[in-house]
Amino acid sequence: MLEALREELHQLHLELPRHNLVAWTSGNISARDRETGCVLIKPSGVRYEALRPEHMVVVDLDGRLIEGHLKPSSDTASHLYIYRHRPDVGGIVHTHSTYATAFAAANRPIPCYLTAMADEFGGPIPVGGFALIGGETIGRVVLESIGSSPAILLKNHGVFTLGPTAEAAVKAAVMVEDVARTTWLALQIGRPDEIAPDDIAKLHHRYTHVYGQ
Ligand code: 13P
Repeated sequence: MLEALREELHQLHLELPRHNLVAWTSGNISARDRETGCVLIKPSGVRYEALRPEHMVVVDLDGRLIEGHLKPSSDTASHLYIYRHRPDVGGIVHTHSTYATAFAAANRPIPCYLTAMADEFGGPIPVGGFALIGGETIGRVVLESIGSSPAILLKNHGVFTLGPTAEAAVKAAVMVEDVARTTWLALQIGRPDEIAPDDIAKLHHRYTHVYGQ
């Protein structure tokens, strides 16, 4: 089932170690198939270099196994909670990327100090409360605190990003770590100023409506 999406999800998983966003088997990505309504997700605890397209697990929105030989990601119930409550979301990424997760460990949002953050996120990256891994609690906490941001930090845990596609969510995960690293460095040498809300809105509008080809 879903051969093209399987292949794409496999390729996107390879972007996580390529961008240094994950260690060993941490992290996961899922993608929603708009035609069938099913979700494809990483199998739990498989090393990235061993992952193959056929290892991706297909489940329905209620978590029933549709196709797959391996156990789905431990975060499956949380991904499905998000898909059920946010019809606009087509892809979800979870990482423990280092600098962003340092902010999560300290329970600190990432303020909007950088034009790149205004562009990509349209504001600060919020931090949500602590949630245990396994059920749908992480999904609940993500939706409670994410607002209109494509990214959120979870206290003591890591990063979740949402996008209209899995590729957009992977891009947001790459950008979260990029801005978290720059912000952490800036905080070592000074006191950065936050960008004013109306400038954030202008930057975000330009990036989403004018920037690129
Ligand atoms: P899975 O390998 O089960 O997806 O777990 C990775 C992880 O980071 C859980 O938070």
